[in-house]
Amino acid sequence: MRGLAPIPLVRPLIGSAERAAVADVLASGHLVQGQQVATFEEEYADLVAGRDCVAVSSGTSALHLIMLAAGIGPGDEVIVPSFTFAATANAVRLAGADPVFADIDPVTFCVDPDAVAAAVTPRTAAIMPVHLYGHPADVTALQETADRHGLLLVEDAAQAHLATHSGRPTGALGDAAAFSFYATKNMTTGEGGLVTTADPALARRVRLLRNQGMEQRYLHELVGLNQRMTDLAAAIGREQLRHLPDWTRARQAHAAYLDDRLTGVITPRPVGPVTHAYHQYTVRHPDRDALAAWLADRGIGTAVHYPRATHAMPAYAGEDRWARLQLPETERACAEVLSLPVRPDLTDAELDRIVEGVNSFGGAR
Ligand SMILES: *Cc1c(COP(=O)(O)O)cnc(C)c1O
Repeated sequence: MRGLAPIPLVRPLIGSAERAAVADVLASGHLVQGQQVATFEEEYADLVAGRDCVAVSSGTSALHLIMLAAGIGPGDEVIVPSFTFAATANAVRLAGADPVFADIDPVTFCVDPDAVAAAVTPRTAAIMPVHLYGHPADVTALQETADRHGLLLVEDAAQAHLATHSGRPTGALGDAAAFSFYATKNMTTGEGGLVTTADPALARRVRLLRNQGMEQRYLHELVGLNQRMTDLAAAIGREQLRHLPDWTRARQAHAAYLDDRLTGVITPRPVGPVTHAYHQYTVRHPDRDALAAWLADRGIGTAVHYPRATHAMPAYAGEDRWARLQLPETERACAEVLSLPVRPDLTDAELDRIVEGVNSFGGAR
């Protein structure tokens, strides 16, 4: 450790305003899906071009409820990347539909639109790109494929709060989108998620499905789940929203600082008319594990997002179609990527230690 304080990769930023807001909700006695949730939904709509917002219990719930509300289920296919957090494909699978895995673009790490177009079959119901690490997927090309075949375009925006494509915010780029407010995301409610959509009928079904299929108490219109957000979570989220623009700018500034100085690694490069939200600042190195160990020795926290493709997970690889699937860019990324700290509260001294740590690795080998 050389006596230096560790630099953790991620750290939730919770201040006195969040603590006070939670205390107020506890004192109010109204703990679940009340006024805080309704106001959080209204405030979040400002981030997503005024789209309908439905707050739920997690990002995974948001993805799952979009599938259910859109009527996607047995017999349907949804095209997803395999290089992502497993929740993306799991949501499809849990709705009873089949995920179809497409390879990624090696520069953006997002799903490759040509691979998506090639994966369309008569059973395809939706395309679900992930704005991985906060880089918006190529929604222009994906929308063309969706339009050509009459498919739904669903954004997994769990990592991409306030990123933009062609001047439009993530969450307003497709037919529906899912955000996550898990503790490590760009803003947090502890656990939490949110669905955005331009389709009022879809929004209503998500609202029903998150609450046992009820709008009116004890009148179950649909077979639903309990995936409500608590008012405690929403109160935290409302405070986090005040900081999110500044936090995002800080992430972008830290990324630019690293871009200008890192040597010996391939740094992330935004492609197309996008702004990157830098949920993660993920570099490539052919000797990734040695670089991670080198940085750990210097107190610099890193992580591999993700070491294994979804289709190669035990949960999937038991099935022949997935055991045999080869996605070369996905597999190369799994072997080479390493996320470095980019969180908004990094100090200049910490950024310099990260630069020094990475740059000295090349020389030391
Ligand atoms: C975090 C994440 C999810 C799931 O969100 P939870 O709130 O943890 O359920 C889904 N997709 C991606 C890409 C994520 O990073």
